[in-house]
Amino acid sequence: MGRTSRAVLTLAGNLGWRVSGSAAAGVKDGYWFSVYQAKPGSPMILSTAISGLKTLEYRNLAQCMLDKKETFSLLEIHNSGNSLELRVKGNGRPEDAAARTEMLIAELVREFTRLGVPSGCSFCDEEGFHAFYHVDGEIINVCPECAARISTRTKSADVLSDAPGSYCMGILGAVLGALLGSVIWLGVSQIGLYASIVGYFMAFLAYRGYKLFGGRKGSYMPWIVAASVFLGVLLAHIANTAIGIIKYMEMGFSVPMLNFSLILALRGFYDNEMFNVARIWLDLGLGLLFAFLGSYRMISAIRKETGKKGLSIEKLQ
Ligand SMILES: [Zn+2]
Repeated sequence: MGRTSRAVLTLAGNLGWRVSGSAAAGVKDGYWFSVYQAKPGSPMILSTAISGLKTLEYRNLAQCMLDKKETFSLLEIHNSGNSLELRVKGNGRPEDAAARTEMLIAELVREFTRLGVPSGCSFCDEEGFHAFYHVDGEIINVCPECAARISTRTKSADVLSDAPGSYCMGILGAVLGALLGSVIWLGVSQIGLYASIVGYFMAFLAYRGYKLFGGRKGSYMPWIVAASVFLGVLLAHIANTAIGIIKYMEMGFSVPMLNFSLILALRGFYDNEMFNVARIWLDLGLGLLFAFLGSYRMISAIRKETGKKGLSIEKLQ
């Protein structure tokens, strides 16, 4: 979490709210709110929750707020379950952004009271304000039951992160998968094509290999897959140069010939007399770029998959 913006500090000062991280939170007339601004000038994000919020009530409320949106420069309002989130323009002087948000809070309290809807826990229908918690970086009101439930789940998720499987077997599987990808890569580049889809394929095979060999589902997993793809592209590239040498020599294909040309191909990275070194590095760079473009999404998906550790929850002191 970044620093608290001046607008958030001003608002917290005006309302006597608590500041924690880059957010502030407090209660007004029985309704809890938290406000957050990512950086000066960006929208002020106001959160709250209404116990047992019905679709009709929400539509009614959203319509009322949007009708007056110019008054407090309201950008949007949306809900998910009982939680409400409103965005207010945060540009201009911090004092103005704070004043707009304060006006919006007063208007919300009026509307909540008019509709007769009570404040509530962000997770269940439990009414009233209980305690503020940092949950995944956000400050929200959580009832004791929900807080207990989340912290138990977080603990069991921590146990899960010590998942079975071994990194060694995972590396073996990922490298074998990537090597299979190299063969495809080599085939495609023989036709004179670079295709990022092959990079995706290589990452996919490395990932499948990792799982097939019982690799551990831990935080190193995406890096192992990424390193395997890198190795796969590098090897495909060396093999490609070696094939070029065999073709150039016109002596036919044999295992000693392959070994010889593979070793010779390594000289391609530095021996300017025999090879066009710049061209070889450029080709490798292009290959890696395409592999990156093709596998980026997949690897970040693996990062998300292994990074999931449940919600982090911490009571605001
Ligand atoms: Zn609850």
